[in-house]
Amino acid sequence: MTDELVNVSDLNQYAYCPRRYWYLHFYDTQGRSYERVEGKTTHENQSSRGDWLNELYLESETHGLKGKIDVLDLEGARTVPVERKRAESGDYYKSDELQLAGYCMLLEEHIEEQVREGAIYLYETDQRMHVPITEDHREAVRETVEAIQSMSLDSVPPFTDNPTKCEACSVREYCMPAETAKLEPERVAGTGWEDEL
Ligand code: SF4
Repeated sequence: MTDELVNVSDLNQYAYCPRRYWYLHFYDTQGRSYERVEGKTTHENQSSRGDWLNELYLESETHGLKGKIDVLDLEGARTVPVERKRAESGDYYKSDELQLAGYCMLLEEHIEEQVREGAIYLYETDQRMHVPITEDHREAVRETVEAIQSMSLDSVPPFTDNPTKCEACSVREYCMPAETAKLEPERVAGTGWEDEL
């Protein structure tokens, strides 16, 4: 168990597949360290234009979170964090909502006001989607932070039970679900990989 602050973007990684998060966190599989990248994101990166504020870095000991909000929309009575996403599928993922909820929780501590909504901007299709942040989202964030802080180097999470995710997974060459299914089928039992071969 660690009390290290969790990057909000890691909530998304973990939700995609805890095993993928484990490889990204404990192995430098992307040729870079997440901590190093995060270290560069400081208040110095902040800039504003009209009713927008770009790149606001926040930390919260209370929530065990840290992260950089892409854009803050300051127009009107509400302050709305906006997360930019690619839109290859034409929509965002459930895990993106978790990430947005994490930013809302960081933000409300910072501005001392409830933040009940965020937005996801799909830049490939130029769509802005309004996302109400519920108590379920907040609870999911708290549970995920706890799960991430409980991870350790010597305990690798199981394979995902959705092999479709593995097709697009950047750590597949380290994780090797197909190879494991062939050589040690008992280790992928119940994941769906046994039917993929
Ligand atoms: S290849 Fe599949 S099981 Fe392995 S980390 Fe990626 S998504 Fe998870």
